[in-house]
Amino acid sequence: MKWSKTHLFTLKEAPSDAEIPSHKLMIRGGFIKKLAPGLYTYGNMGLRAIRKFESIIRDELEKVDSVEILMPMVHPKELWMETNRWNEMGAGLLKFKNRNNHEFCLGATHEEAVVDYVRHELKSWRDFPKNIYQIQTKYRDEIRPRFGLMRGREFSMKDAYSFDVDQTSALVAYDKMYKAYENIFNRLGLQFRIVQADAGNIGGSQTHEFQMLADAGEDSLLVSDKTSFAANIEVCPAIDSVPYQSKDTELKAVEKFSTPGQKTIADLEKFTSVPANELVKTLFFSANDGLDARDTALKAFAILLRGSDEVNPIKVKNLLKMTNPPQLLTDEEVKTISGANPGSCGPVGLKIPIYADNGIKNLKNYIVGANENDYHIKNVNHDRDYKLTEFADLRMAREGDKCPESDGRLKSYRGIEVGHVFYLGQKYAQKMNGNFLDKNGRAQFYEMGCYGIGVTRTVQACIEQSHDQDGIIWPKAIAPFHVHICLLDPKDANLSAYVEKIDQSLSEKRYDVFVDDRDERPGFKFKDADLLGFPVRVVVGKKGFEANEIEVVNRKTKEVHKVSPDQVVATIEKVLAIL
Ligand code: ATP
Ligand code: MG
Repeated sequence: MKWSKTHLFTLKEAPSDAEIPSHKLMIRGGFIKKLAPGLYTYGNMGLRAIRKFESIIRDELEKVDSVEILMPMVHPKELWMETNRWNEMGAGLLKFKNRNNHEFCLGATHEEAVVDYVRHELKSWRDFPKNIYQIQTKYRDEIRPRFGLMRGREFSMKDAYSFDVDQTSALVAYDKMYKAYENIFNRLGLQFRIVQADAGNIGGSQTHEFQMLADAGEDSLLVSDKTSFAANIEVCPAIDSVPYQSKDTELKAVEKFSTPGQKTIADLEKFTSVPANELVKTLFFSANDGLDARDTALKAFAILLRGSDEVNPIKVKNLLKMTNPPQLLTDEEVKTISGANPGSCGPVGLKIPIYADNGIKNLKNYIVGANENDYHIKNVNHDRDYKLTEFADLRMAREGDKCPESDGRLKSYRGIEVGHVFYLGQKYAQKMNGNFLDKNGRAQFYEMGCYGIGVTRTVQACIEQSHDQDGIIWPKAIAPFHVHICLLDPKDANLSAYVEKIDQSLSEKRYDVFVDDRDERPGFKFKDADLLGFPVRVVVGKKGFEANEIEVVNRKTKEVHKVSPDQVVATIEKVLAIL
């Protein structure tokens, strides 16, 4: 392809709303262009990378007998009411009415649609197993779309669904997809981690995320330095590396004391000289689940944590079997429940359920808020001074915590969630009457799994992990073009004919060639070549051609090979072979 024939305009500077490198580079290279927040046009170069990644996915899914279909993007409300996700997904679903006043949403995920697709046909145990996928545009009304294709409102997802007669075979299907995903991401040649994850509101018990490692990733991962254990921080068990033991053996008498203006744990630590890990903080949450929670009468619960710890809302959600992570109460609501401002609250005298993080277990004679402004109480002890509903692991794990599987330690990484596999069990089959007759003629619900890959997010994640100060370094597997020829004297017929020839012989070998035939200065062309980041750059100019020295440059290492015109194709092939 020639630059003069395509629609490509590069930018020197990224717009100010592009915050992370991959977003900046995609915009500057014309790979994507914003239409509105979270909505992007994929330019031809961006689309070529997306299509290449799609073909890797198709190739690997075919190997595990997954069959491609394409479902509608617009779904009727009735379908989503069958599982109640019309309500559970809340404002994340973009809902609208047609001219007949029928309600619809844009597909955010397709469990309902795919069960509807198969439920009238999968009727006998002989019809199983089945595995179906599509690559399609999804719409999620993200509150804050950001980072370009990383968190779009409209984005492309590969979603696959497996159907099996029982749990054993459903888990076999899960393993097969897990391995197919490993192959897919391995083919990108970049660094990723597979981590234990939260099932979100898709439901299900076993679930892993595929995370591309990158500093700008939104997810926190904790990885064992001893075993293969790796988890998203959302679900990572938090175990102190050195178990805490109180110095006190006796329980002392409680004592209220004045703490004027001491609002935060840091304030209190200074004021009392007691370290934060021996102070107890009390957080108040709404027990009203779902997004309409605020419309009903306030129900609340409290969470106790050591002052040095952070609460993990996903753990709280899972402990209390809530649909969504709980919301913190406002200061006003806290006052109604406890009688004091948040900085002076504690568990003593509360009439709501109190859950405590395991880290509190071994504390003795600790300090809590007195539920009276500017007062705290010391020498407080659970069981004696207040009743706990339950101890549980409720804190965020952190680097240095103990590995849950060994005596190793956890190390922290940032990741971009590019894929997610879920074992769903019978959740959707039960709600949507997905049943079949087993070998004994008995009606059974089938078992499902669902498997997503963020196609557009992965393409950008590759750039986030693979770039330098000059631009993108595309992994060969999804590079829009393999070879970028900078034709320095495009008006020279001889040179153009030569470039035509290399283009042809490379194309015959199935390499994609891009020719910069613009009438621009060499330096300008080289900058653009670095920005676009195709694996090999070739510089064809009159001077080099006559001197029998044509430059073949490896984009990643910047290594330059100077070869005679008849050696160019072979050299390009050599450079590409080692990538
Ligand atoms: P996230 O936690 O990032 O919001 P999710 O867990 O809700 O994602 P899934 O339902 O697991 O997403 O969707 C499957 C895949 O689709 C994700 O692993 C991710 O790669 C991709 N994806 C999800 N939301 C977006 C989005 N807003 N923009 C781009 N890709 C997305
Ligand atoms: Mg997910």
